[in-house]
Amino acid sequence: MGRLTFYGACGTVTGSLYLMEAAGKKILVDCGLYQGVEAVGQERSLPFDPQEIDYVFLTHAHLDHSGRLLELVRGGFRGEILTLQATIELLEIVLRDRLHLDPQAGTEGDLSRLLELCWPFAYHETVEISPYLSFRFQDAGHILGSAHLELWAEGQKFVFSGDIGRWASPIIRDPTPITEADYVVVESTYGGKRHPSWSTAKRQLQQLLRLARSKKVRLFMPSFAIGRTQEILYFLNELVESGKVEPFPVILDSPMALRVTKIYAKHTELYDEEALKRLASGDEIFSFPLLFSTPSVASSRHIDRLQPPYLVIAGSGMVTGGRIVAHLKHHLGDPHTWIVFVGYQGEGTPGRAILERRPVIKLDNHWVANKAKVFRLEAFSAHADHQELIRWLSALQGVKRLFITHGEEPSRVALQREVKLRFGWPSERPQVGRSFAF
Ligand SMILES: [Zn+2]
Repeated sequence: MGRLTFYGACGTVTGSLYLMEAAGKKILVDCGLYQGVEAVGQERSLPFDPQEIDYVFLTHAHLDHSGRLLELVRGGFRGEILTLQATIELLEIVLRDRLHLDPQAGTEGDLSRLLELCWPFAYHETVEISPYLSFRFQDAGHILGSAHLELWAEGQKFVFSGDIGRWASPIIRDPTPITEADYVVVESTYGGKRHPSWSTAKRQLQQLLRLARSKKVRLFMPSFAIGRTQEILYFLNELVESGKVEPFPVILDSPMALRVTKIYAKHTELYDEEALKRLASGDEIFSFPLLFSTPSVASSRHIDRLQPPYLVIAGSGMVTGGRIVAHLKHHLGDPHTWIVFVGYQGEGTPGRAILERRPVIKLDNHWVANKAKVFRLEAFSAHADHQELIRWLSALQGVKRLFITHGEEPSRVALQREVKLRFGWPSERPQVGRSFAF
């Protein structure tokens, strides 16, 4: 007899945390933080005893899947964290950033202990923990090192989708269709929604850069350090080196994104065919003429003295912190400033307020007039849209029950409706605390 309990990402897109009790073990799948408005009321303590947990399966390094590992270790967890090598490397960056922003989350000591508990595995490799418990990671195509988890326990097969990426994403491979499962836990971030294609993304980016260059404006791109920034650099490399966009200064003003890009550059074994082909032709895929980086704060301040046109890529992605805040404090009031959003802007964030063209924006406790011209490139997304979620699910056979998580309620409902029509599987939208016995 086993049990699966849902402790997060139930009707929200953050806070992934599931507990499985099976084969005499207590197992977590992800241990993520609630973020943005969803974080309100998040308790410091975990809803179980960290000392009793034997294993954590980590699907990828994003904070909303990994952030509370610090609390877990702080609370006495000494089991094993099983994941991909690239995820371990990204995790160190992500959690150190969290410690920097929230010193109460843990200490450097907690972080190094945590990293010592991490064990790397490869995609497609089936690993037997005991005769009653085995697992396998498959490529989820979401960010570098992201995985779907197949877990065999108590004679049943569980599949945890983790975050599902998009087909034909730059750099990394497509999500892996999983063909069999008794029970499936699937994300639904973009249930009921559709993304423009990648070719649209590239074309819009090209037009915007050409225009910014010819109008001689300052262009700011708030960007997430993991995945999004590398995709942008990859496209910029292609556009500049193919001559579609004339070179002009592009400044990567994010030490975190710089470190992440180095990890992306190193793990070529995780690339898709197109990226490998470019690499084989001798191209450095994240580098092109007039790309600069500004690791130190002093070098970042020099950007202000540059003569436009230029593009600054800086975090944080929703303008809630990081170097983008200082840039926009200076330049948001200037109509010659352009801002391009390439990621989701959460409710209540300065990014969302700028996108909604509110006349004044609160940045770093100062009110700043918003006269900038604002653009949004919607095609950049690390998540499967509705059709892609259905595509991933349609490979599955033998599903006894589907649990729809990691989506706001309308998205979960939209996905559930189509699953019912198309596959007829029993499905549910679990609430926090829902426990399922098997
Ligand atoms: Zn993610």
